[in-house]
Amino acid sequence: MAILRVEPLTTARALRGPFDYRQPEAMEGLEVGSVVRVPFGPRRILGVVVELAEASELPPERLAEPVEALEAGATPELVRLGLWVAREYCSTPSRGLQLVLPPGTGTGAGGRTVRAKTELRATILPAGETALAGGERLGTKQRAVLDALRSGEMSAGELSTAVGADRATLRRLEERGLVATRSVAVRRIPGEPGLSGAAERPQLLPEQEDAVASLVAALDGEAGAPRRLLLHGVTGSGKTEVYLAAVEAALERDKGAIVLVPEIGLAPQAVARFRARLGDRFAVLHSALSAGERYDEWRRLRSGEASVCVGPRSAVFAPVRDLGLIVIDEEHDPSYKQEGDPTYDARAVARKRAADSGAVLVAGTATPRPETWLELPRLELPRRVDGRSLPPVHLVDMREADPRSGPVHGETWEALEEVRAAGAKAIVMVNRRGFAPWLTCRSCGHHWGCPNCDVSLIVHRHSGRLVCHHCAHAEPQPRACPECGSTTLAQAGAGTERIEKLLAERLDPMPVLRLDSDTAAGRGAHARILARFEEAPSAVLVGTQMVAKGHDFPEVTLATILDADATLRFPDFRAEERTFAMVAQLAGRSGRGEAGGEVIVQTLAPNAASIEHASRHDSAGFLEAELQRREVLRYPPFSHLTRINFASEHEAKLEDAASAVAADLRRALPDESELLGPAPMFRVRNRHRRRILIKAQDREGAVAAVRDVVERRVADRSLKDVSIGVDVDPQ
Ligand code: ADP
Ligand code: ZN
Ligand code: ZN
Repeated sequence: MAILRVEPLTTARALRGPFDYRQPEAMEGLEVGSVVRVPFGPRRILGVVVELAEASELPPERLAEPVEALEAGATPELVRLGLWVAREYCSTPSRGLQLVLPPGTGTGAGGRTVRAKTELRATILPAGETALAGGERLGTKQRAVLDALRSGEMSAGELSTAVGADRATLRRLEERGLVATRSVAVRRIPGEPGLSGAAERPQLLPEQEDAVASLVAALDGEAGAPRRLLLHGVTGSGKTEVYLAAVEAALERDKGAIVLVPEIGLAPQAVARFRARLGDRFAVLHSALSAGERYDEWRRLRSGEASVCVGPRSAVFAPVRDLGLIVIDEEHDPSYKQEGDPTYDARAVARKRAADSGAVLVAGTATPRPETWLELPRLELPRRVDGRSLPPVHLVDMREADPRSGPVHGETWEALEEVRAAGAKAIVMVNRRGFAPWLTCRSCGHHWGCPNCDVSLIVHRHSGRLVCHHCAHAEPQPRACPECGSTTLAQAGAGTERIEKLLAERLDPMPVLRLDSDTAAGRGAHARILARFEEAPSAVLVGTQMVAKGHDFPEVTLATILDADATLRFPDFRAEERTFAMVAQLAGRSGRGEAGGEVIVQTLAPNAASIEHASRHDSAGFLEAELQRREVLRYPPFSHLTRINFASEHEAKLEDAASAVAADLRRALPDESELLGPAPMFRVRNRHRRRILIKAQDREGAVAAVRDVVERRVADRSLKDVSIGVDVDPQ
C-alpha cells in the first residue's frame, strides 16, 4: 500500500509532522511536493507530501486519506530546500515549506483561493455552417455568434464585445451541436514598469568578456573553473550586461536561471532590461504583483514555459527547471535577509541551492561584504564602461559648520546652484523620512514620544501627523502643548520632507522630486518617480537610501549625502560596512554622463574608516581594514552569530524567560562559544524586549543547541506570554 507522509501547514510551533495518510486510488500523480487537504482530527487542513513510503507503522484501518489534491505543488528539490531552511534557521517545517509552495497556498483550514484563470473559447462546427446557410431556426444573437465564428476561434469575452452574446447563448449553441467550446488557461501578465529597458546588446568591453568567459567556463563545468564567483565592478562598470550574457549562455545550454535583485521596487530599471532582452523566457515574482499574476508567473516557471526568474529574495525559491545559474545582484544589500520567521538569508539559500543543483553562482556588487570578499574568487571590472573616471568626492566637515545655517552646508548649496545654472540633475540623500525627527515644547520642554514604543514621534508635515516609525501609531500634529498650552513648538532635525521644502524654496524653478517609502508606497509609484526624474530636463531627486540604488541617469552631475555618519551611530558591527556601501553607492550615481560630476559628503565623522575609504572609491582598502577589525573582535566571517529575541508585555516574565534560556544555553552551547546578554532593548508596540547574542566558531553546534533549548522552552506553558524568536546570522 502506498503511504503519503504529509507535513501539515500550520502556524503552531508545537505541531510537527509528518503524518501518514493512505494514497487514494482516485488521486493519481501525487508526489513529493504535492499539496493536499487532509482530515486532521475534526478539521481538514492543508499539508505537503514530503515523502512517499511503502508502509506505515500504523495499521491501515487507522490511516485516513487526503480529501483533495490542489492544482499545483512544489518540486521534490524545493521541498528539500524548504525543510533545510527550516532547520538552518531554527524555524518549523511548515514555515520552511510555505516558502517553496505556489503563491497564495495558505495554511491550515483556510485554503487556496488562487487558481489558474481560464477562459472559454468557441469554434463553429460543420452543423453550424449548415445552420447558417439556411434551414434551421436561429435567434439573432445565435446567428451573430455563428457568423462571427466563421472567421475563426474566439473567446467568450471577444464574442461578448463583438456581438453582445453572453455565455448562455454559447451554451445553447453547443447543446444544439452547432459550436464546440474548450476552456484554456490564460496568463495574467504583470504590468510593465514606466522605465525604459533597452533591448540592444552592446559590444562588451574586454574585461566584461573575460568575466563572461569565466562564467561560461563554469557553466560548462570546465576543470578548475570556480563555480561560485564574486563580480566586483565599480558602479557603472557594466555588471548587468555580464549577468545578461551569462543568463543567455545558460539558456543556450537549456538551463534556467534565477536573478536576485534587491527589493524589486528599488530595481525597476534592471527588471525592465531583463524583460526587454529575454522576452517570453522571462518571469518576475514579487509581492507587488496581484495574487493571480504571481500564481501565473510561478506556474510558467514550474511548467518550463519560462526559464529565468527575476525577483527579490523570495525568488531564490522560484520553481525554475534545470537551474544552471544564480545571479545575486548588489549582493551587499540588506534586503536579502528576511526579518520574520524563518530569518533566512537569500544569499546563503542561493549557495545551498546552487550546490545541490550543480548551478553556477555569481554575486555582484561595487561594495562587497567582507565575508564575500574573503570567500569568493573575484572577477574585476575596474572601470566604468564609458571610460570616465569615478567622480571626485569632497568631504564637508559638519563639526565646523554653524548649526544655525541649517542641514545643508554653504558649499553644498553652491554646488546645487551650479547644477541649476547648468540645467543638470542632482541627487540629495538624507537618512530619515518625515519632516523632523523631534517635536518639543519650547516653554516646558514636553517631548512627543510614542505611547507604545520608547522612541520619538516623527513630524510628517505632508500628512499633518506625528508618526511612530516602529509601530502603526499616528496622531494629528498638535498646535499647542498639552502640558502648558504654549504654541511655540520646536521641530528639531531634518528628514526628507524638510530637505525637499528647503530645496524647493531655494532652487526654484528647478523641480524637486521626493523618493522615500512614503512617496513610493503605491504600486508602481517608485518607478513613476524615477521616470519623472528621467524625463525632466533638470531636476533634484531627494530621498532616503532609495535614491542611491540601482538606477543610471547620465545627466546627474552632483550626488550629495547630508548625514553620512547617521548609519555609523547604530550599535551594530556592520555599521562601518553599511556606511561604506551607502556612501560608495551614492557616489556611483554621479558623473555617468559627458558632463562628468562630483560628490559631496556632509559628515560629523570625516575620519571614520568607512567614509574615508568611500571618498577615495577604495573598496579593497576598506575591506582589508574592516576584515582585520572583525578578526580582532571575533565578528563574522571569523565567527557565526545567532541572536535570540524576547518580547513580552510582562517585564518580570520576560526577565525570567530570558535568564532561563541564557542559563540553558550556557550548558548546551559548544565550549568555544560566547554568550552576551540578555541585554535590554527599547520597548516596541508595548512590548518590553531582551536580546541574547551568541558568537561561535561551530555554527552547526551552536544552532543545534539553540534549537533544542528554544524548542523545549517554547513548549513550556509558563512562558506562554513571552515570544521568543531566533535570528541565525543576523545582519
Ligand atoms: P552596473 O550594473 O555595473 O552599475 P550597468 O550594467 O547598469 O552597470 O551599465 C551601466 C550602463 O552602461 C548601462 O546603461 C548599460 O547599458 C551600459 N553598458 C554596459 N556595458 C556596455 C558596453 N560594453 N558598451 C556600452 N554600454 C554599456
Ligand atoms: Zn509645554
Ligand atoms: Zn510606536
